[in-house]
Amino acid sequence: MITSDTEVAIIGGGAAGIAAGRHLSAAGIGCLIIEARPRLGGRAWTVDASGFGIDLGCGWLHSADRNPWTQVAEAQGRTIDRSPPPWDKPALEPGFPVAEQREFRAALHALYERVGVAAQQAQDVPMASLLEPGSRWNALLGSIGTYISGGELDHVSALDFDNYADTGVNWRVREGYGTTIAAHAQPVPVALACPVHRIDHGGRRVRIETAKGVVTADRVIVTLPTTVLAEMQDLFAPALPGKTQAAADLPLGLADKLFLSLENAEEFEPDSRLFGRTDRATATYQLRPLGRPMIECYFGGRNAWELEAGGENAFVDFALGELTGLLGHDFAKRVKPITMHPWGADPFARGSYSYALPGKVASRAALAAPVDERLFFAGEACSTHDFSTAHGGFITGVTAAEQVIAVRQRATA
Ligand SMILES: Cc1cc2nc3c(=O)[nH]c(=O)nc-3n(C[C@H](O)[C@H](O)[C@H](O)COP(=O)(O)OP(=O)(O)OC[C@H]3O[C@@H](n4cnc5c(N)ncnc54)[C@H](O)[C@@H]3O)c2cc1C
Repeated sequence: MITSDTEVAIIGGGAAGIAAGRHLSAAGIGCLIIEARPRLGGRAWTVDASGFGIDLGCGWLHSADRNPWTQVAEAQGRTIDRSPPPWDKPALEPGFPVAEQREFRAALHALYERVGVAAQQAQDVPMASLLEPGSRWNALLGSIGTYISGGELDHVSALDFDNYADTGVNWRVREGYGTTIAAHAQPVPVALACPVHRIDHGGRRVRIETAKGVVTADRVIVTLPTTVLAEMQDLFAPALPGKTQAAADLPLGLADKLFLSLENAEEFEPDSRLFGRTDRATATYQLRPLGRPMIECYFGGRNAWELEAGGENAFVDFALGELTGLLGHDFAKRVKPITMHPWGADPFARGSYSYALPGKVASRAALAAPVDERLFFAGEACSTHDFSTAHGGFITGVTAAEQVIAVRQRATA
């Protein structure tokens, strides 16, 4: 059994739940994070493998110069790596000569410009409708779109895509982004391995039914990933169909990482990059991430969903097929699988990061809106401008905690 009574129950111990818990604890408000997994961090997860901390979920401090996790990492005494990300440099030439890369970059910028123009129109459209018909770069633009949003461009709202705010500064934490986020929870009470099945908000106090017993609370902050929230139609009693619908409008797209060890890695520059193919759905390969002797293979969208159906071997075979196609048959002898995590099959994530379906941008605010001054909502999908990210999770967690504090002050005034 777990602690059965708390002032504020926080459902989910990822970036949002942890930030909310820290904020409430700092304000002297009792809270309990209730987390389904036996670990904290959610989609932020660093594992020790081959002597390194490897981020299977978030790895980049996007908008690092205004990202609150940067300060948290610094306060924890961690090492921030400020070297430029691979996507700010030309890719390696095998399979993609520099002249073609220039053409591709022009096509990418032209797409972003069309997205900016489309976002000014009254009617939202799918990103795919803004591709130039017949362009030879559409397959690669689609792959890049899946790395950014996790979704295929025909499902992704152009307005939402345009709403994303990025300062263009991208750093990493050498010890791991996931380690940093999980460690931030340190003073907050936590119940681990404790999935929540139902949140009954019909009575005087909120009753939270979990695998380890019932918790009662005055208020609740819900931070579940949208796809999980949409699947759990009976989570709320009385039901909250508006929340279930808003979550369904903001599905999690899929991005998966596979890490391979690499012999004689020094042949490549640190943080260099290869695209597997330019003419069909492809993976991207970051060679020597943080200077380490490994390759981080990144798969997105439908390609990642299809590979998950075949298990880890399907990812390894796909990566080896593309890498040997670019670097020669013998390259296969230099690499070995280290680790990966299939986020789509993960029952407590069901994907990697949220995108809005065309016409559904307002669902982010609808998801974030409190209910009856007792149920509050946070998580990356609740953010209008920093969605998909761990800092979006942080910011929405703090916002929900502030909402709780304001309601509490009004109640005692
Ligand atoms: C492969 C990959 C790469 C990424 N790269 C980046 C990146 O470079 N930079 C970046 O900023 N972001 C990145 N992200 C996205 C980032 O990890 C997420 O946006 C962020 O971690 C989400 O935090 P959150 O708190 O909103 O949700 P989560 O981390 O999903 O937290 C929700 C929590 O709820 C728990 N939960 C689920 N069901 C239940 C239940 N029934 N009861 C109790 N608890 C439950 C989950 O276990 C989880 O811990 C990446 C994600 C992936 C998967």
